[in-house]
Amino acid sequence: MAAQRLCRSLIGGFFRSLRTNPARPALELGEQSLSYEQLWNYAGKITAYLDEAVDPSEKVVAVLANRSVAAYGAILGILGSGRGYCPLNPKFPLERTLVMLRASGCKTLIVGQECAAVLESLLACLEKPLTLILPDSGWEPASKLLSSHHVISARELSNVAAPVDPLVDGDDTAYLLFTSGSTGVPKGVAVSQSNAVAYMEYAEKRFGMNREDRCSQNFDLTFDLSVHDLFTCWDAGATLCPYAEQTLTPAVLVDEKQLTCWFSVPSVAMFASKLGLLEPGAFPTLRWSLFCGEALSASLASAWQAAANNSILENLYGPTEATIAITYYRWDSATSPAECVRGLVPIGWPFDGQQVCAVDENLAPVPIGESGELCLGGSQVTRGYLNDPEKTAKSFVRLKHTGDQVWYRTGDLVRQDERGCLFYLGRRDFQVKVNGYRVELQEIDLVLRETARTELAVAIPWPLSDGFASGIVGVVSGSDPAHDQQIIAACESRLPRYMVPNRIYHFPQIPLNVNGKIDRGKITEMLANWGQ
Ligand code: AMP
Repeated sequence: MAAQRLCRSLIGGFFRSLRTNPARPALELGEQSLSYEQLWNYAGKITAYLDEAVDPSEKVVAVLANRSVAAYGAILGILGSGRGYCPLNPKFPLERTLVMLRASGCKTLIVGQECAAVLESLLACLEKPLTLILPDSGWEPASKLLSSHHVISARELSNVAAPVDPLVDGDDTAYLLFTSGSTGVPKGVAVSQSNAVAYMEYAEKRFGMNREDRCSQNFDLTFDLSVHDLFTCWDAGATLCPYAEQTLTPAVLVDEKQLTCWFSVPSVAMFASKLGLLEPGAFPTLRWSLFCGEALSASLASAWQAAANNSILENLYGPTEATIAITYYRWDSATSPAECVRGLVPIGWPFDGQQVCAVDENLAPVPIGESGELCLGGSQVTRGYLNDPEKTAKSFVRLKHTGDQVWYRTGDLVRQDERGCLFYLGRRDFQVKVNGYRVELQEIDLVLRETARTELAVAIPWPLSDGFASGIVGVVSGSDPAHDQQIIAACESRLPRYMVPNRIYHFPQIPLNVNGKIDRGKITEMLANWGQ
């Protein structure tokens, strides 16, 4: 049997804050405020049940809940039992949720009351019985479909577990997420406790947050950047302030909730800018302005810095596979504009203890100043994709000059200057960001081709504003325009909302490149020339 590497767990910082600050607010949801103690009273019941009644071989538990006490309580409750959590997104199509649930292997699912309708549809499609934990008191759904499952309602969750940092193996999963996959199936990334703790320990030093801080919670729980939101906040004994789904933009919360720490994708800031919210001095309470998840333009960084004039602004970079973020660049209004390449803020330097290397196609390092694919190494790099040795072998590689060390090939093209600063230059594949969400265009192509019944169908990020995609369109040839609504409906039933084409364009001929492949760049140019 492999030796266990016992390690701190992702929930350790929350427990520390619970011991030292039990009465401080941990979570503010609209008008509702929960102290650390109250939040643990909710979560600890889930931990107690999992400890007592669920087989220890069940190492990951799924959560279907959204921006609710159930969502945050379930995550803490699962981690408290030494298990990992797998968040499911109630806004995703059922088919995708089912694929993720099956792939996760989870036999226990915790559901928040706000997902009652999604649960009902899910129950109709489940092949195997699950243990369903429904922790919201007073909620006991009457659905007949529940009878084939083992249902635990709030009434049956009476004991609160002692808040004891569980002893975990460093390789155990802390959270399991799924990202868009080019072959049409989402890829599972299991982030281990040691990966997550490596990030948190560094973040604690870097951001020095404290119990007076009030932190944004902008990211969906299915996006790994939400792990930063929750745990850098709770590790510091600070207050987490999620925005409500109906809020026009999370940026209004800076003033409403007097936030001190902000973290979002640049698209959220861009939207705030379009709404005229980035007046100079508009966000005086912020002391940290952090961006990650997609390229940050110099103009947006400069506008946000003027609005959040008391804050330190940093551009963080990192893929899910290397745990949240792994490089940083600190914006300086005096010197940074001149350092930007193609109008984009550099992605900067690796976190202490993590490694970066830009390589050529043969996985040999490229000289300083030349473009190469960014590879990442160190304690934040995960072990690969869930149950997918083939994709793992392609992306988790050894570089010729570093022996046995495993590096993650990001697919991102970068250039490094003589100081070691990294500049983001784009992608070497068809992965894009749409409003900050990671999308493999081929995953949409597959659905388009199947439903339009033609090989000449592609997804194109469009429209672009300052080079950023705010949506997707389908471009097809040889399909009847009368089928457009059907094609879009098929996409809606299989893909998350942000991957569904807003419209289908019919081209008499699809441009091909010299290799005979569909030329997406040319199509984008054609769309731009049409001025659409
Ligand atoms: P995700 O796994 O969803 O976090 O997406 C990771 C990808 O987002 C990276 O491989 C990059 O392509 C992109 N990305 C993340 N942060 C940045 C950044 N600061 N600048 C440019 N691209 C970024």
